Amino acid sequence: MGRRKLTPQQAEKRRLERLQYNSDWRKRNPERVKTRDKKYHLKYKEKRLQYSKEWRIKNKEQQRISCAKWRAKNPEKALLSTRRYNVRIKFIIYDHLGGFQCVKCGFTDIRALQFDHIHQAKNSPQFGSRNSELRYYAKNPEECRKYLQILCSNCNWIKRFENDEVDHRGKAQRFGVAARET
Ligand SMILES: [Zn+2]
Repeated sequence: MGRRKLTPQQAEKRRLERLQYNSDWRKRNPERVKTRDKKYHLKYKEKRLQYSKEWRIKNKEQQRISCAKWRAKNPEKALLSTRRYNVRIKFIIYDHLGGFQCVKCGFTDIRALQFDHIHQAKNSPQFGSRNSELRYYAKNPEECRKYLQILCSNCNWIKRFENDEVDHRGKAQRFGVAARET
């Protein structure tokens, strides 16, 4: 019970002294400040991300404007970030569809794998652009598995020929093969 009660003036003086001391300490120990700040940053990373996510949802219009401003100011970074985002979306879809493998022949080299529409045109959802389609499927795994599959380029081309999606005669002529009767 040894602590004596301070008058408001004394308390204020103590507070300012403490602030001054902290400030001086930070100046004297820049390295320790750096590691401590980093530790703090990491400790609350999740919480901060969660908070900013909630903020963005609550302030959609404001978020849209500030995002557009940033993109206009940093066109190169914006392009890069869009590309990264699109790659991330594709990886999510691969994940929905069971990984990097052609469903017909088992080919696994991602460089020659493609997303193929299982049900052509008929009652599959329509999209304004390829990117909006991929974003939709990334967010809706059930739909994604219903309408998309992974094929390698070979199997995809063979499927196109079998489904009459390509001009056989044009292709056949180019390769000097007898045109198929249509
Ligand atoms: Zn294949």
